[in-house]
Amino acid sequence: MAQLESPHPAVRNVALLSHSGAGKTTLVEAMLYRSGAKAQMGSVNQGTTSSDFSPEEKHHQTSVYTSILPLTWKGQNFNLLDTPGYADFVAEIRGAQLAADAAAIVVSATAGVEVGTERVWLSTTQRELSTFIIINKMDLENASFFRTMAALEATLVGNIAALQVPIGEGHQFKGVVDLLHLKAYRWPQGDPVEVPIPEEVKGAVENYRGRLVEAIVETDDELLEKFLEEVEIDQGDLERAFHVAVKANQLTPVLLASASHVMGLSLLLDFMMEGVRDNEHHAPLETIEGEPPILKAEEPFSARVFKTVIDPYLGKVSMIRVLSGKLKTGDSFMGSNKGVTLTAAHLYTLNGKDYKEVSLLEAGMVGAINKLNEIQTGDTLCHKDKVFTLIPMRLPSPVMAVALYPKSRSDEDKMSDALHKLLEESPTMRLEHNPETHETLLWGMGSVQLNLSLEHLKERFGVDLETQTPKISYRETISKAAEARYRHKKQSGGAGQFAEVALRLEPQARGEGFSFVNAVVGGTIPGQFISSCQKGAEDAMREGSLLAAPVVDVKVTVFDGKDHPVDSKDIAFQTATLHAFREAFSAADPIILEPLALIRVRVPESYTGDILSDITSRRGRILGMDNEGSVSTISAHVPMAELQSYSPDLQSITGGRGVFSLKFDHYASMPNNLAERIIAARKA
Ligand code: GDP
Repeated sequence: MAQLESPHPAVRNVALLSHSGAGKTTLVEAMLYRSGAKAQMGSVNQGTTSSDFSPEEKHHQTSVYTSILPLTWKGQNFNLLDTPGYADFVAEIRGAQLAADAAAIVVSATAGVEVGTERVWLSTTQRELSTFIIINKMDLENASFFRTMAALEATLVGNIAALQVPIGEGHQFKGVVDLLHLKAYRWPQGDPVEVPIPEEVKGAVENYRGRLVEAIVETDDELLEKFLEEVEIDQGDLERAFHVAVKANQLTPVLLASASHVMGLSLLLDFMMEGVRDNEHHAPLETIEGEPPILKAEEPFSARVFKTVIDPYLGKVSMIRVLSGKLKTGDSFMGSNKGVTLTAAHLYTLNGKDYKEVSLLEAGMVGAINKLNEIQTGDTLCHKDKVFTLIPMRLPSPVMAVALYPKSRSDEDKMSDALHKLLEESPTMRLEHNPETHETLLWGMGSVQLNLSLEHLKERFGVDLETQTPKISYRETISKAAEARYRHKKQSGGAGQFAEVALRLEPQARGEGFSFVNAVVGGTIPGQFISSCQKGAEDAMREGSLLAAPVVDVKVTVFDGKDHPVDSKDIAFQTATLHAFREAFSAADPIILEPLALIRVRVPESYTGDILSDITSRRGRILGMDNEGSVSTISAHVPMAELQSYSPDLQSITGGRGVFSLKFDHYASMPNNLAERIIAARKA
């Protein structure tokens, strides 16, 4: 295996992004093989690829984590960042985009533009990352370049142009014509061989070359003027403008490949030599504090952590993209988000699952440092002489939870530590302990992430957990006023207890909580025992009579009572109040309140009707709707109990095109029949 001896400082990092299954992992394999970095091509189906090395990835034959694979092509070093296709792994995808110099969006020549294609297109163009598209699987029976191009042009907003047209499709896919240089290539075996442009593709070449030229001149005023005046454009100028436009993300070229047949890879790598900008030519970065770095190797060191891994041997590993300067083993630097000074004890470059210790990381490189315990994914690392903090990685909040139960005593012992490590690796996940239901909840972006994380906990940290749908934290309250009087008496033998309390409960508005009023006149309850009454009432509020859920929104007025010169004491008044409360509570028509979430659902406009009726069927109340272009955002209040599988349900309603956010909003009463069912279930 051809290993990189010392990483070239001018390395270019290319992130491969797509809808799941378009062929990113296979393309990476094919590029490694074509460049000589790997002597044999691995296969996704046999679990032998360099990218998908974790047990979860082999088992599901899909990427879950971003992996980094280096190769050298004609003296130029590249890192390929193979990302997961599922939207649930948004943190891995965003991290790879932050680490990359360019994004390669892979689409399948049979499936064309899919939901995931649109999603990664939007997120890369928003990040101003220079982008190119690879139409893969050109060897498949019903592959179509023309159909796929039409779908790309129709769905993705941008200046997209084919750089190649195919010579044959499906089993006949034998080569391509490069539309920029107007050269045809066939690949009888391995390397492409230049051939005359075949007669049968001349029409397509003329058509798509015309479109490519238009796309190029659109990005260059001088060339545009010549084009409009029909003055001939010099080929050298056209090529130069093409590369400038691609690097500046003003033009997205489309290339062709068959990854599994290793076709089109040399031309793809040749294109990447010219088409991917280097570190120095990135747009300036935005900071929340301090001046942004100048992206040059001579500047003070700075980097961004784009991913965190807990490695069995190295411990916590922070993967970084170096933005400026150099970092040598033993150097000190700052973690500016946390305000800490750190030391680079060991530095590494990455190759799939292997770490290679190096003594230096330089601007433009992707590498790793271990044992930065305070540092998290997204953090900025910088030199003490030039301190700044980059805008943090923006990630959506998790929307789905499962309750975790250890399977054995040993799982219970290891659970907390393993979950802590999982959260370090997965910044979109969150842990919550619910003191009412005594459940530990793991929140994630959807069922795919939650299920794979549980597999990861088992495989990597040896912790086996069962999951359940989280219990809902209900509340109880009253719907009318009621009074009760209670005498607490214990006067047989030993020190006696005596207290009598009369109180009134009244409903308060939702969210007002608990209030306590002392309306005792004439000292029927001595002043020093009023606080005992309040404590008793607070105690009673902890558990209502319907579900033993906390009681809320009740005003308690103590208005009368009786004491005893010897036996009245704090505990006696607490006990009497507690019982008086419980009696009055039962008489005050108690009801159950359930938690409601505020959700915001973003879907293509055509799904709006389906979403509205689905929300209504979940007992939701629509609050509003906004339309922005062809996207609708619907906000609604929906009971939490009706949202526990909303993430997969929304996926299936919208074919994966919908996203949503969710947060607890308030408590509200629930329909009687449902409340009765819950009470009956609790009693059973
Ligand atoms: P990823 O999810 O984007 O990484 O896609 P994979 O690389 O895992 O590929 C998904 C499936 O498509 C696998 O079964 C691959 O063998 C298959 N595949 C990938 N590229 C090609 C290709 O160029 N031609 C054909 N026929 N199959 C391919």
